[in-house]
Amino acid sequence: MNLKAAIASIVERFSAAGIASAQADAEILISNHLGISRGELQARAITGQEFELSEIEEQVARREAREPLQHILGLAPFRSFELKVGPGVFVPRFETELVSQLAIDFLRAIPGRPRAVDVGTGSGAIAISLAAETEAEISAIELSADAADYARENIERCGVSVDLVLGDFQTELLKFTNLDLVVSNPPYIPLDATPIDPEVNRHDPELALYSGPDGLDAIRELASLSEIALRSGGMLILEHADGQSDAVRELLLEAGWRGVSVHPDPVGR
Ligand code: SAM
Ligand code: GLN
Repeated sequence: MNLKAAIASIVERFSAAGIASAQADAEILISNHLGISRGELQARAITGQEFELSEIEEQVARREAREPLQHILGLAPFRSFELKVGPGVFVPRFETELVSQLAIDFLRAIPGRPRAVDVGTGSGAIAISLAAETEAEISAIELSADAADYARENIERCGVSVDLVLGDFQTELLKFTNLDLVVSNPPYIPLDATPIDPEVNRHDPELALYSGPDGLDAIRELASLSEIALRSGGMLILEHADGQSDAVRELLLEAGWRGVSVHPDPVGR
């Protein structure tokens, strides 16, 4: 089969399986298999190169069954890094790169060596980017031992220094004092609101997704505990769902926070 036809047949299967990013996923799987860039793959497709579809049938079938692309590749991009991911750890999302950016901007404006904690670090995504892109001293808290194993490996792979704490933030966060920043992408989905995508509801750990009847249990806890762990004038940066802005702003103001602001993600949510 020629490469162009091979790509088209995979795209068709992925589209039929309800995958929105069918074209990108097909190209990424093949280019990864061939060890070339996506641009190089597109160039080769135009020149009519041959490709044996059966070589990647196993991977195509896994993706068709809605296994996350990042689990099949074993890697997920996050800012300038590729992080190891797989079953047992939350796949870092593009929108969380903005959470890191806000944290980086805040930390870079503080002279000396500010201190920050990433709560619920998962693969280590936020903590690693902060350690790489600022002068700050970074700690990370994670309750899941499986997720923490990924974080540990990613911290080492990325060659950064992050103090990883295995435990529940409800006890571990209070062991910090005088912090400049607490940052978190906590679980925030209401218990009875199952995400539609099978990649999420079958493959991301439940501990990473759900947080009480309205999804805000973890954020409420963070609002009160961070106040104790931070220095006066310190910052709390939280990711939350589209549609939770008013509720989160309200609960923060009630907990005594000042200067609360909401930031839309790169697609305006
Ligand atoms: N920060 C990572 C990211 O943005 O890709 C992971 C975010 S994931 C949505 C939330 C993480 O919080 C999961 O890794 C989960 O295991 C962790 N978590 C949930 N409850 C926790 C708790 N009580 N203490 C510490 N970590 C917790
Ligand atoms: N953004 C995640 C999703 O796509 C939810 C992650 C979270 O609860 N922090 O479902």
